Amino acid sequence: MTFPIHKFVIGTIVAALSIGTLTLHAVAPKKNKKAEAAPIAKADYPQTDILLPPTSLLDYPTAGELNRLESPMKRITTDFSPREISHVGVKDAERFKEGPTEIIDLSQIQEGDYAFPLPGAKVISPYGGRRKYHSGYDLKTKPNDTIVAAFDGVVRMAKPYAAYGNVVVIRHYNGLETVYSHNSKNLVRPGDLVKAGDPIALTGRTGRATTAHLHFEVRINGTHFNPNYVFNFTRRTLKKECLICRNKGNHVTVKPVRALPRYLLNEKNREGNAK
Ligand SMILES: [Zn+2]
Repeated sequence: MTFPIHKFVIGTIVAALSIGTLTLHAVAPKKNKKAEAAPIAKADYPQTDILLPPTSLLDYPTAGELNRLESPMKRITTDFSPREISHVGVKDAERFKEGPTEIIDLSQIQEGDYAFPLPGAKVISPYGGRRKYHSGYDLKTKPNDTIVAAFDGVVRMAKPYAAYGNVVVIRHYNGLETVYSHNSKNLVRPGDLVKAGDPIALTGRTGRATTAHLHFEVRINGTHFNPNYVFNFTRRTLKKECLICRNKGNHVTVKPVRALPRYLLNEKNREGNAK
C-alpha cells in the first residue's frame, strides 16, 4: 500500500501547528484549568484529503530533462489515422510518450518561424467566457481574406465539420495544433506540409457563424487552451513564454510561465559548480 505524500505533508503541517499551539499553552499562565483542558479545535485542521497548492517549482524537471523537454522541435505523428483526418480534437500518439510533462518554450521559436494567423485582424470574441464556453479566439478583417499557418507543420484535417464549417487543423513540430474555422474556402489538404505564413484558407461564415471571421484555436493532444498563452492578440506577436503542459489522461492542463526554467536551470548549474 502506498502512502500519499500530500497526506504526509498535511499531517506534518497539522503536527507542526499543533506543537506550536501546545507550546503557547505551556508558556501561557494557567488561569482556567477547564479552558486549558479544552481540546485543540481539531475541526480547524483538514480532516480529510484536500488539494495542496500547485508545486510546479518543486517537481520541476531536472536540468538534463529540461533541455530535452524544451526543445522547439518535437516528434509528431504525421501518418494520420482516419480519425485524425476527420475530427478536430484528437490526440497525437507522440505526445506525452516519455512522461506526463511537456514544455513548449515559445521563446525558442525564431522570428519568421511563426505568423499571426489573420494579419491585421482585430479580436471580436476572446477565449472562455462565463455563459457559453468559447474554445478559441474570433478574429475579423473582411470576407475572403487570407488565413495563414501560425507555425510550420503538416495539415491533419481540412473539411467541413459541423458548427466549425470549413475547418483546417494543422499539427506543428512544436507539439501544438492550430484550428482555423468558418472558412469560405480551404486551400490545403491533409498531408500538405506548410510553413509559417503560408496561405491555408479564406475567411468566411460557414458552420455556425453570423459574420465572416476566423475562429482560431490552439490545442495540445486534443485539448484546446487559451490562444493568448501563445499570441498577443493586440500586438499580433508571439508570446515569449514557456508553456508547461501536463497530461491528465483525458485532458491536458497548460500553464504559461514567464521567464522560465532557464533561470531555474542556471541556478541549478551554479549549485553544481559550487560543489
Ligand atoms: Zn469562435
